[in-house]
Amino acid sequence: MQAFFSDDQLLHDPQQYMRVGRICKPADLPTRAEALQATLAQRGISVSVPREAGRQALELVHSTDYLDYLETAYARWQKIESFGLEPGIEVLPNMSPHGVRQGPCPSPAVLAQTGWYVGDLSCPIGPNTWRSVLRSAHAALAAAETVRDAGGVAYALCRPSGHHAQRARAAGFCYVNNSAIAAATLRQAHGRVAVLDIDAHHGDGTQQIFYERADVLTISTHADPANYYPWYTGYAHERGAGEGEGCNLNLPLAHGSGTAAFALALDQAMAAIERFGPQALVLPLGFDTYKDDPISVLQFDMDSFRLAGARVRALGVPTVVVQEGGYMVGAIGAALDAFLEGLQA
Ligand SMILES: [Zn+2]
Repeated sequence: MQAFFSDDQLLHDPQQYMRVGRICKPADLPTRAEALQATLAQRGISVSVPREAGRQALELVHSTDYLDYLETAYARWQKIESFGLEPGIEVLPNMSPHGVRQGPCPSPAVLAQTGWYVGDLSCPIGPNTWRSVLRSAHAALAAAETVRDAGGVAYALCRPSGHHAQRARAAGFCYVNNSAIAAATLRQAHGRVAVLDIDAHHGDGTQQIFYERADVLTISTHADPANYYPWYTGYAHERGAGEGEGCNLNLPLAHGSGTAAFALALDQAMAAIERFGPQALVLPLGFDTYKDDPISVLQFDMDSFRLAGARVRALGVPTVVVQEGGYMVGAIGAALDAFLEGLQA
């Protein structure tokens, strides 16, 4: 199995994030990626640096105006003059526009565009954020190209994560949707691609990107969003729209659910995937379902990750595994190890 990662993905070092009205220390620490790298090394899995691939693959799933914003926001932020106030250390929105955001932001001001393109206060943009985001996307692209061209399984060690990023909106520590880029890349060779997201949070960005498409099946198992991020989506009645009607499946789990409940959800997910008949799979893989994760409301143990790996192996289609969340730096290495054990057994 091949894995992909660039050291540039460690450069993004967020300093602040809002929780329950408090500015807190962010959970997406660069050390997360180092813990996952250590597991790959222990298992003898070679890690390749993805090729520099520019923005082309990102434009498969994101709008040009949004990518222009992400690429330029930090430099433009430095030039803000606001009634004698210096800009803060990172780009963060002041406000959220009313109604649905459609098309490019009507204002050229970086502060206005930040409200337009950044959906919450967990996505600060610092001096190196764009570089890390771009290289994280390149890791997903390289893994998808490998699987597209040679089959098998590849792992993209993505950081920052991507599954909350919509076509033109950052949110939930995510800026560019790595899993959606992988799915779009696999679609270049395959008629049907399935995405099975097993992060603790609903993969709302991925759902939004493919919601009206019949060629990409999106499935997400996650903690019930009624009282958990991302709150507004992830409910069972969201089944896709237009041509994509029936091609989205949400399997919310009651808070406190353990590995047994996850196994039942996986049964439903696998049955839906087999009905759809994809030629390739993307697996957005999160470890924030683990019982001791600092932002977990689920009670999964390590067996859940082993089980997920085994079910992917049993499915037997070419697969790109894309790293999403998981914030207990002391546990995510073991979680990846358990997943790979199930996958490779
Ligand atoms: Zn998550």
